[in-house]
Amino acid sequence: MNKEIFIARFCGFCTGVTKAVKETEKVLKSKKNVYCIGDLIHNSFVIEELKSLGLKVVDDISQIPENANFIVRAHGIPVETLKQLKKKNCRIFDFTCQILKRVHHLIEELKKQKFKIIIIGNPNHPEVKAFISHAGKDALVVFKDSDLENIKILPPCAVICQSTIDKEMFLRISRKLIEKTRKILIINTICGEVEARRKEAIKLAKNSKMVIIVGDKKSSNTKHLAKILRKFTRAEIVSDAEELEKIKIEYPIFLTSGASTPMRLIKEIAKKL
Ligand code: SF4
Repeated sequence: MNKEIFIARFCGFCTGVTKAVKETEKVLKSKKNVYCIGDLIHNSFVIEELKSLGLKVVDDISQIPENANFIVRAHGIPVETLKQLKKKNCRIFDFTCQILKRVHHLIEELKKQKFKIIIIGNPNHPEVKAFISHAGKDALVVFKDSDLENIKILPPCAVICQSTIDKEMFLRISRKLIEKTRKILIINTICGEVEARRKEAIKLAKNSKMVIIVGDKKSSNTKHLAKILRKFTRAEIVSDAEELEKIKIEYPIFLTSGASTPMRLIKEIAKKL
């Protein structure tokens, strides 16, 4: 049997994750008492490695002692949390992805111009929580079509979105918002790297019997990628080489990954296949 395996050109860490992981490793080499709230990135292998270098991952700010070193993850952090950390005299190492920082500035700018901010995305995702903190209390978060039921949208309002959401969802909800008001500013803030990865994956998925998406099942961009690719072929999320044993392999096979998957894990899986 011809066991063809294709590996995506756009796979492995995205730019934001690469920087956050590299810089955190540097901090861990020179500092002690290094904390992070929640996982630095959504990949348990990488988190375990960083923990072994000394990173302390906590759930809540109350678990961070005074004068600690604090890592802001690629997703960013709510403004209020940052203020509390500064009160605790923590040294902040801000590794928020530059793309998301630009969205934070955009939100601040829109607010100055008196726009009500509408965020399309998952309100429980850390990236969206940081957006909400910049957008203020009257920001509206829309995650499902039903979130728009019985809601009046008064101008001026501006729409932005989570960097990893599905474009179809962004377009569908934006359209519904347009139907609710005549004056609305819609800004597509989906990350260009996520889009490039999805476009390439769709093209290759159409010519494959199955796709393996290497990534963590907690990662939002990995789950979205799987959902999109399942429209074209069989798609399985695999977090390590052992998991390959549990699934039926069909060729030709296409390998891609979420934005927080290290390249060496993809290579390991390709080798095992
Ligand atoms: S997916 Fe895009 S926006 Fe998110 S961390 Fe990576 S580069 Fe930044």
